[in-house]
Amino acid sequence: MAAAHRPHVLVVPYPSQGHINPLLQLCKRLVSHGLTVTFATTLFILNTFTPKLPPSIHLDTISDGFDTAGYEESSGVDDYLARLQTAGSNTLADLIQRHQHSSNPVHCVIYDSFLSWALDVANKFGLPGGPFFTQASTCNYIYYCIHHGLLKLPIPSFPVSVQGLQFLSSHRDMPSFVGVPGSYPAYFRLVLSQLSNVHQANFVLVNSVYEFEQQVVDSMSKVCPVLTIGPTVPLFYLDKSFEEDKEYGYDLFEPDSSAPIIQWLDTKPAQSVVYVAFGSMANLSASQMEELALGLKATTFNFLWVVRTSKERATLPPKFAEEIGDRGLILNWGPQMEILSHGAVGCFFTHGGWNSTVEALSLGVPMVGMPQWTDQPTDAKLIEDMWKVGVRVKVDENGIVGRNEVENCIREVMEGETSSQLRHNAKKWRNVALQAITEGGSSHTNICQLVSKLLDNNFTK
Ligand code: UDP
Repeated sequence: MAAAHRPHVLVVPYPSQGHINPLLQLCKRLVSHGLTVTFATTLFILNTFTPKLPPSIHLDTISDGFDTAGYEESSGVDDYLARLQTAGSNTLADLIQRHQHSSNPVHCVIYDSFLSWALDVANKFGLPGGPFFTQASTCNYIYYCIHHGLLKLPIPSFPVSVQGLQFLSSHRDMPSFVGVPGSYPAYFRLVLSQLSNVHQANFVLVNSVYEFEQQVVDSMSKVCPVLTIGPTVPLFYLDKSFEEDKEYGYDLFEPDSSAPIIQWLDTKPAQSVVYVAFGSMANLSASQMEELALGLKATTFNFLWVVRTSKERATLPPKFAEEIGDRGLILNWGPQMEILSHGAVGCFFTHGGWNSTVEALSLGVPMVGMPQWTDQPTDAKLIEDMWKVGVRVKVDENGIVGRNEVENCIREVMEGETSSQLRHNAKKWRNVALQAITEGGSSHTNICQLVSKLLDNNFTK
């Protein structure tokens, strides 16, 4: 297709790692279908971190109003989100306008669902648009039901009567903003706002696989045009023929060059290593870090542990590194997909962020879920009860996951009574993910549907 005739899609992520990764993968898929794609992150991110992206993805910027230091420059979440909306709307409009006067005008805007205001901007220019949800359909539908009054808070009893959500059996299964009412009000408003205008969107993309959450996707599809297009992960690890797609390509953290991660994994027996990581945002308390360290030490398994900040490192027990010796490797940031796909890894001890969950599910790695907040409790429920590919920790009366609990959960996944069943199930879901992205599979079909609408400019609401 001649470049001038290719539809030009503008993709706008929310500026954090867990949102940039899946939206970038979507860009790669759209490019592979012959579309022109511009990825517009914030000025701060583009000026601060160096992407390693294929040249076919064009880069551009909007502003979140904090061009020097991003979120750190704001006075807190309320301030950040308010400025992101005002500065983001204005600069997104400028960007579209600039392109409208070029040989390559924008035809459609795909925005992170956290940026629901982007639809107004797209529509102002007469452009179609839709959100891309980077969390589980289950969470999206819970928020939909709350936003539209189908679920009242506080939820009086379980199971809830909403079709597709009956498997949720307690407050412990709900997103933290719902399970613990009043916590993080600004973020709660943000996640509800995602659902405020889905009825006006031309499509609603979700980083999930239809078969992962069939019933809830069916329910949500009755109220808006849902297209599950996941897993939006680098596809090489699912299918070796995707040689060019081995990494997301935009790390907001410095990978650990001092830790020989893959060489270290190469020295370990198959399925002998527990990979421990809590994503890009969680900050564990000092006492939680200590319990985790002592639980890992007690298991006697090998472990690879991402401890992102020096503040967290300082909370490790004295002499911890010396005592564990070659059994453990601690790093600040690593190539998570490459690690999860390594044969030495036998279990992922995770906070259950949606990307981490989808990555492990797609690679067939059983999990221990230790949720911290937001959607993670619901993801841990899915891991344990929907897909049966892992267990979730129990928190004690002080809100801490104790060392014995850490040890027991890891032992269960690595060698317990249910271990072989968990591994068997994990393999099954890996195949489901692979099928979904293969021609004729649910996600592949949905992407093709989106692409053909873009090619024909044929959007009905
Ligand atoms: N990640 C990574 N290296 C690390 C830890 C995490 O590349 O050492 C990536 C991981 O693969 C995932 C993202 O960071 O794609 C984290 O997203 P997730 O939704 O799991 O958690 P969040 O950071 O949003 O809490």
